[in-house]
Amino acid sequence: MAKVLTPDMYNNLRDKETPSGFTLDDLIQTGVDNPGHPFIMTVGCVAGDEETYEVFKELLDPVIEDRHGGYKPSDKHKTDLNSENLQVDPHTLISVDHLTLIPGGDDLDPNYVLSSRVRTGRSIRGFCLPPHCSRGERRAIENLSLESLDILDGDLKGKYYALKNMTEEEQQQLIDDHFLFDKPVSPLLLASGMARDWPDGRGIWHNDNKTFLVWVNEEDHLRVISMQKGGNMKEVFSRFCTGLTKIEGLFKERGHEFMWNEHLGYVLTCPSNLGTGLRAGVHVKLPNVSKHEKFGEVLKRLRLQKRGTGGVDTAAVGGVFDISNADRLGFSEVELVQMVVDGVNLLVDMEKRLEAGESIDDLMPEQK
Ligand code: ADP
Ligand code: MG
Repeated sequence: MAKVLTPDMYNNLRDKETPSGFTLDDLIQTGVDNPGHPFIMTVGCVAGDEETYEVFKELLDPVIEDRHGGYKPSDKHKTDLNSENLQVDPHTLISVDHLTLIPGGDDLDPNYVLSSRVRTGRSIRGFCLPPHCSRGERRAIENLSLESLDILDGDLKGKYYALKNMTEEEQQQLIDDHFLFDKPVSPLLLASGMARDWPDGRGIWHNDNKTFLVWVNEEDHLRVISMQKGGNMKEVFSRFCTGLTKIEGLFKERGHEFMWNEHLGYVLTCPSNLGTGLRAGVHVKLPNVSKHEKFGEVLKRLRLQKRGTGGVDTAAVGGVFDISNADRLGFSEVELVQMVVDGVNLLVDMEKRLEAGESIDDLMPEQK
């Protein structure tokens, strides 16, 4: 935001507002209050409703273009939620003499990959987004979500746990086990306005074995998550696709669409999450690679990002990182998960080389 916004642009946009009354000042507040972030470059602005992206496009289009690898206002987003399209990385095959796709993504080395996870966000059309919604809207979203989620059955059958009905210990245990969003303590989140009325209307829905979870009213109306221990990303992604498609259908049957358009894909609170909203990631042990001088460069070339295992605002402990796709927009869901699977396989190969005291020079990837 700070890279794009000029005094002229500010003058141009300062008197505009969306139909629900979201203004330029609301939009940029979090970036103004938090000019730097210790671990990642943030986008410095948030949307308050679906129309934000249209009304303030003079500012948001260039932010989106910069954050999403040159994605232009005329570009169209693509969706692919078919987990069968994940393949074995052709570079790892000894001889590829035909172009048949070999299914892949199910065998990340569990000696290194501790857990696999895929998440996205979804917004319900007609409601303001978390930085701007009222207490009443938030409660309506909570009710709508429960009506729909209650219908899921089989493996996906689950229950809702409202934050305000949980004890402090129960909440902390879910956070420590990586199932629940952290409390909104980060100044970045607080300044955006998304934490108003906390914990009212917030909660987590999950199936019995906590492999399919939905966060209600955190940074987005809904965050849909599939996760499990080990390196079977294919199984995680497959459950994610099935569950998400069912949820979308259930909302539609009740007369509620998700915010979506051809250009932005799924519309979410943070411009960094537009498009697929998808973050596929693993917790992976990389004590040697992460100390290598080329670590940052390798991640960049593989289009991956790193976080600590406690989530977005945390540092890595003991060489274990959360490695996930850096992009959300301009690539399909399958393409993003494929990037993570292939990239993590390479990082694990590099880790094994360094462990054995060997060089990784010949494993340096091209820019994807
Ligand atoms: P999100 O992109 O879902 O907002 P955050 O960085 O805010 O992710 O982390 C939310 C929670 O999810 C944290 O507790 C984090 O440890 C957990 N988490 C993220 N990726 C994984 C993973 N691959 N395995 C296990 N837990 C994970
Ligand atoms: Mg988060």
